[in-house]
Amino acid sequence: MEQRLNTIRRKMIEKNVDAFLITHRPNVFYLSGFTGTSGFLLVTSTDVLLFTDFRYLEQAGEQAPAFEIIKVDSSANYSPAAQFFLKKGLKTLALEEAHFSLREYNQFKGSHPELDIVSLYNFVEEIRVIKEEKEVGFIAAAARIADLAFQNVLPLIKPGVSEIEVAYELEYQLRKGGSEKLPFEIIVASGERSALPHGVAGKKIINAGELVTIDFGAEYGGYCSDMTRTFVLGAPNQKQQEIYDVVLQGVEMATRSVRAGQRCDSVDGLVREFFEKEGYGAYFGHGLGHGVGLEVHELPTLSPKGQELLKEMMVFTIEPGIYIGGWGGIRIEDLVVLRPEGLQILSESGKEFVLG
Ligand code: ZN
Ligand code: ZN
Repeated sequence: MEQRLNTIRRKMIEKNVDAFLITHRPNVFYLSGFTGTSGFLLVTSTDVLLFTDFRYLEQAGEQAPAFEIIKVDSSANYSPAAQFFLKKGLKTLALEEAHFSLREYNQFKGSHPELDIVSLYNFVEEIRVIKEEKEVGFIAAAARIADLAFQNVLPLIKPGVSEIEVAYELEYQLRKGGSEKLPFEIIVASGERSALPHGVAGKKIINAGELVTIDFGAEYGGYCSDMTRTFVLGAPNQKQQEIYDVVLQGVEMATRSVRAGQRCDSVDGLVREFFEKEGYGAYFGHGLGHGVGLEVHELPTLSPKGQELLKEMMVFTIEPGIYIGGWGGIRIEDLVVLRPEGLQILSESGKEFVLG
């Protein structure tokens, strides 16, 4: 934690910021260790304070021993932080632009018009993008829980079961295997519905010969995993097999070639160009991948707009997909960590296309 706070302080100096009010829960946890649902941090060059209400005072003291714990009547009352800031004679106070509502801002600025407020975007998130070995360990543990749950659920997926039955069983297996919660709603989309990249499981019955896409994750130590597998029950037809092979080649191509120093858009472009060459360029409607950590979608962003350079110890997904309305879709998603020698795959489930 101390190292993370030092990094924040170095960045604050670069931006000429005297104090930083941190309100986004994953960022609060990252910097303090506090897991309560209500609380925020104030970081200055000399002080670290955690503001929370009476329900969490004891927990805050235990989880964030380096912080001075201040009781507030509500987690949306930032006045005690402003008072501390003014008493210290500080000048510039930074807020997290993406995590402070307009209402909160208006109230805050209205009560303290003398404050010089600046907004910062992705300030903590840009530090979180490079994982520590311990964080990779938590993400890998979440991925293992997901792999095991998937393995336990596969034998139950037969023609006649509904998507939602598969999702319930998968959720049960994830929880049983140690997942703290579901990082996102499980996607089970079959038949034509598999063309919906985010088709949450419904009552639809899964039939033989249909594509089934399952996208899910586990959470361990506060860290998420994310994985997608697509398969067909029984014999696939030629088009299903052909498109599956193209998507699988896309995954393998990216997995083999990604190295530190490459730009996110060029990595995305590698697979996109291959799909175009194969005649499916118009059917890959989302980015190649996204960072995973305390949140299931975080930096880096592997898409045609991604300007960042990939660096060692970034954890992200490789998840190309081809979606054809009225026919179905195929996506394969692996979770990876970027090592000096290339990508290490954290999601170890097999990629057999034919089930049963
Ligand atoms: Zn996913
Ligand atoms: Zn994903």
